[in-house]
Amino acid sequence: MKVVLRNLTKKYPGRGRKNAEGVTAVDHFTFEIPDGKLIALLGPSGCGKSSTLNLISGLQKPTEGKIFFGEEDVTDIPAENRGIGLVFQNYALYPHLTVKQNILFPLQNLKGKDRLSKEEMLRKAYEAARLVQIEELMDRKPRELSGGQQQRAAIARALVKRPRVLLLDEPLSNLDARLRLQTREEIRRIQRETGITTVFVTHDQEEAMSISDMIVVMDAGVVQQAGRPQEVYDDPRNLFVAKFLGTPPINVFSGRIKEDKLYIGEEAVLDIREIGDIEGNVVFGKQDEKSPDLGEIGAAREVWAGIRPEGFILKEDGPFSCRLKGVEVMGRDISVVSEHDASENPQVRSIIGTENRVDTSKPLVRFELRPQKVFLFDKETGERIYFRE
Ligand code: ADP
Ligand code: MG
Repeated sequence: MKVVLRNLTKKYPGRGRKNAEGVTAVDHFTFEIPDGKLIALLGPSGCGKSSTLNLISGLQKPTEGKIFFGEEDVTDIPAENRGIGLVFQNYALYPHLTVKQNILFPLQNLKGKDRLSKEEMLRKAYEAARLVQIEELMDRKPRELSGGQQQRAAIARALVKRPRVLLLDEPLSNLDARLRLQTREEIRRIQRETGITTVFVTHDQEEAMSISDMIVVMDAGVVQQAGRPQEVYDDPRNLFVAKFLGTPPINVFSGRIKEDKLYIGEEAVLDIREIGDIEGNVVFGKQDEKSPDLGEIGAAREVWAGIRPEGFILKEDGPFSCRLKGVEVMGRDISVVSEHDASENPQVRSIIGTENRVDTSKPLVRFELRPQKVFLFDKETGERIYFRE
């Protein structure tokens, strides 16, 4: 089932004089979730992820905008009639019911022509339990289960009616690291097996990147960028997205473009032959006097330069020098920790292969940069500035 969000907006009214303005939790969110895909809604706490999910589920009403499931406008349809399955962070199983009774619960509420026989209900409950691999736990109470098992039971309960859309709000946040990893694989498998269109809300970029067909990065209620995880990582549209994705995070420097070069501090670290607009398709040459972006020819333009940790190549006579602080060998690669006056991050982190030898007796470490791992952003707006070497 395709899900279409059109101009979806949620404003919460202000309370009292201090907060009279209210909050726009979701701000003209327009997006199409393709049928059968798993979408991760990713962003920092308070950016409007849960509000968006609650609008899709029908638990909340939008201030503006529309929601379609397929061709059907569901904006005014109550949650219980939308055909959704919901899973929250804190499991929300009924504590006095067994796992089996919890999973059966949504089926027992079916009315009229949808009513099922007892055998049919049990068959469906066991089918859902098998999918999440908890058949042998059906007679236990929730308190007799681990967090991971409880969350599986909650997923089985959400799946038992074969929802049109599955909505998961930070479902792994209460699990310990190992279980989180395992359960996210499980969710991926279940989603693939059932083909149910799924929206997975998380603030954890690694979780989002690893589980989803597509990520939608949000900030302050506004969609920043949507796309396949690797595409968004490789081609961030603005500084926010570049900083939000990746561990270790991208290194951000204050820099400037002057006379065909990117300068960081006093060093020309990269050749910049042409720069272009945010669409990346209109590219202005430096020689083009009418270029609105470049301003006066030869004048420097201040930029943020984001360099991914894997964008550094260790090189003795490389153009970019940082003050060497330490080297951490981490099995597959080496993490070089350094400092730079123009760096926004307290430490610069570079990831290089273990075939490299860093001379730790020297005060400076020198690098060459991989241009496709360097992203430039407007100092004021944070919008991406595209360039060619
Ligand atoms: P997230 O799930 O990304 O952490 P939320 O959707 O929960 O974000 O919240 C988005 C914004 O809306 C936040 O500023 C939050 O404080 C506010 N908000 C959420 N729910 C309510 C509510 N019921 N009343 C007023 N403000 C709310
Ligand atoms: Mg939330």
